[in-house]
This record gives sequence, C-alpha cells and structure tokens, in this order.
Amino acid sequence: MVFESLADKLQNTFKTLRGKGKLTEADVKAAMREVKLALLEADVNFKIVKDFIQKVTDRAIGQEVMSSLTPGQQVIKIVNEELTTLMGTTRSKLTFSSSPISVYMMVGLQGSGKTTTCGKLGNYLKKQGKKPLLVACDIYRPAAIKQLQVVGDSLAIPVFTMGEISPIEITKAAITHAQRYGNDVVILDTAGRLHIDEMLMNELVDIKKAARPTEILLVVDAMTGQDAVNVAESFNAQLGIDGLIMTKLDGDTRGGAALSVRAVTGKPIKFAGVGEKLSELEEFHPDRMASRILGMGDVLTLIEKAQSTFDEDEARKLEKKMKKGSFDFEDFLSQLQQMKKMGPIGDLLGMIPGLGNQKALKDIQVDEKDFVRLEAIIQSMTLKERRDPNIINGSRKKRIAAGSGTSVQEVNKLLKQFEQTKKMMKQFAGMDKRMKRGGMRM
Ligand code: GDP
Repeated sequence: MVFESLADKLQNTFKTLRGKGKLTEADVKAAMREVKLALLEADVNFKIVKDFIQKVTDRAIGQEVMSSLTPGQQVIKIVNEELTTLMGTTRSKLTFSSSPISVYMMVGLQGSGKTTTCGKLGNYLKKQGKKPLLVACDIYRPAAIKQLQVVGDSLAIPVFTMGEISPIEITKAAITHAQRYGNDVVILDTAGRLHIDEMLMNELVDIKKAARPTEILLVVDAMTGQDAVNVAESFNAQLGIDGLIMTKLDGDTRGGAALSVRAVTGKPIKFAGVGEKLSELEEFHPDRMASRILGMGDVLTLIEKAQSTFDEDEARKLEKKMKKGSFDFEDFLSQLQQMKKMGPIGDLLGMIPGLGNQKALKDIQVDEKDFVRLEAIIQSMTLKERRDPNIINGSRKKRIAAGSGTSVQEVNKLLKQFEQTKKMMKQFAGMDKRMKRGGMRM
C-alpha cells in the first residue's frame, strides 16, 4: 500500500514523543530530523521537505501546548495539519460547465493510465446521473482506439471514434455529436508520448482551442515519483492544467509525488486511481490522506472531539463525586449527554489507533437506542429522584416507566446497574487511597 513505509517511520518517531509530558526544543528538533528523513525517503521534493520541517518546527516550539493534549499529541496534530495543507487543505471538486456540455480533456504520458482513467471518470460521472461520451483522440498508438472501445463497452458508455484522422477534427465532431445525442459530458482521451515533446504539446494546444474544455486533467503515475511532479510542471507551463488525477496509488509507491505535486504546481489532485478496475477511482481528500500517511486512524479527530466536548473542570468535579460515592443520576445524565456529543460509540472505537481495523471490533454491536432509552428514563425522574434514587418506590417506578415509554423492568434494571456502578466506583476510590498510602500509584 502506498505510504506504508512513510507511515511506519512517522509512527516510530511519534512513539518516542507520545510518552513525554513536556517537550523540549531538542525533542522537537530530534523528531523533525526523523520526519525529514522519512519524507525524503518517500521521495518528496527536497525544497518542499525543507519548508515543511521549518513550518512544523516553528509551530511546535513556539506554540503553547493545549491543556488537554500532551506535547507529543500536539506535535502530531501540527504535522497532520501541515501535511493536509501541503496537499491543498480541502477537496478540490470537479467543476461542471454552465453550458449544457462539460468537456474534460485528459492528458498525460503514455502508460500513465490515461485511457483507463477516462473510463473510470466516465463511470464516476455516469453514477451521478450524467450521460458521458468517451472520445478517442489518440490516433498514434495503434491499440488506443480499440482499448477505449473495450473500456466504454464494459461500462455501457458510448465511445466516439473516427479512426486515424486529425484529433482536432475528431474533437469538433464529437462535441457536435454530444449536442445531438444528449450527452452532457465529453471526455477526450488525447494522445500520450513516452516523453514530452513539442509536437505533442502543439497538438494538445490545438485541441484545447477547438474543445474549450471545462477542465484539463493531467493523469500522472504515482509510481514515477518526482518525474510525475516534473511532468506536471511542464504540462502546466505549456498547456495549463486544472487538476491532476494520480493513478496507481494502490501500488507500492513511496507517495512522494502525491505530497509534492500540489505545492510545486499549485494545482490540486482531484482524484486518485487505486486499482486496475474501472470502479477504482477515489475522490482525493487531503485531510484523509494525511491521517492515512500518519497511520493513526482518526486519532486526530478523536483528540479534537475530546477536546471540544470535555470540560476539564467538570471532569474534576465528577472525579471527586465518584470518590465520595455521591455520584447521582444527574451526573449520570450529563455523562450520557457528553458521550452522545462525541458521536456514535462504534465510530469512536474505530478511531482508536490499532483498534480500528481489529476484527473483534466488528462484532461489538453498540446499540445507540439503549442510550436513548436510558436518557429517557432518567429524564422522567424528578430532580429529587435523580439526586436520591433510594426514594424511588413502586409507584414512582410505574410513573417513570410510563413517562419514558419503557417498562418497570427496564427502570429496575437501570437502578440496579447504577447501584453496582456506584459501589464499584467507591471501591476503586478506596483502592486508590490505600495504594497511595502504601507508596504505589495507580
Ligand atoms: P495510457 O497509456 O496512459 O492510456 O495507460 P493505460 O490506461 O493503458 O494504463 C496503463 C496500465 O496502467 C494498465 O495496465 C492499467 O491497467 C494500469 N493502471 C491504470 N490506472 C491504474 C491504477 O490506478 N492502479 C493500478 N494498479 N493500475 C492502473
């Protein structure tokens, strides 16, 4: 998988930071040396790496550490944010023309995956309800026209061909054809070469004039690393491109191209090819890619969520109450509500690194409805009952059950569970004290 070794290296670097309560400037610098090596090994452009390390170091050293994060987590957060920025911050969507037909001109070197990607894009747009037309403009590579026809047939997308006449004529005729037959998307499969040459560029410029494309999309092969970035620079300088589609991100690539290309060319990656099948095209999300590179599930989201939902003062008050055994239904309710704010329990578990992909997790069924019922029961209690559950007798139970749309059995179950939890909390609190007295720490 792409970025595998980069992810491994970064994780090792962060492991040494994670345990630290306080980070010194030397800690940050040492970690950044490792990050720098990891990025260079992943074939990220040297200048980009230098800028990146500088930015992260400045922010990590200069910034005050948030009280709810450890300094190590803080560095991870900054690295993640800067990686996301490097790839363009937010997802760049495909634009559509305001006229009835959107024309996408696909360009790229031979072997980059251009023809396959024309099919993939057609398929993606067809699924959105568009009526695409694929157009064979590569008249030089002998099998190119046939290849596009095969791709189109397998997707039930029409393919426009005119054999080996001028690609400019083909383009014009294809757009007329699309107007007549109601195709609202035209995808031009242009010719590629092994290397960029003047003849190819001139032809592409002429096609661009004839087609007036909504977007010119450059297809580059992630496996070619920095060459892909150079190709992107040339195409952008000579033809002007609107975005990139990076193919073969499923392969064993080091990923450097995906990280550098945006910063070098200023053009976004719009899609990623992640396999040979025609369905294997993904929208490119910089933030998701960054957390994939860091190999930490969505631990960052978790950190942020925890930060925004848990009030530290509240947490301390609660801890005191637990220890004294005065934890009541009011506290229980506010706990439930805080947990709900953090989102579905299943999602939260999935965000914990190392847990996310464990098979066992798939078997855990957390029923959100249980939470709703518990909340309803507690809300049907009076304030007095919540503060002192002992007063809840038979008739009160009946009233609570009716009020919450549950049964007396369910109310009983909650009361019993609550008592047991309270007992356990008291025991833990006692244990904690005894251990501290004995010189041990929990
Ligand atoms: P073109 O010469 O640029 O038109 O390239 P093709 O569309 O013929 O693709 C070249 C090769 O790359 C073919 O074997 C494709 O199956 C393969 N290919 C294209 N995109 C991807 C991708 O995203 N992942 C993988 N693994 N292979 C791809």
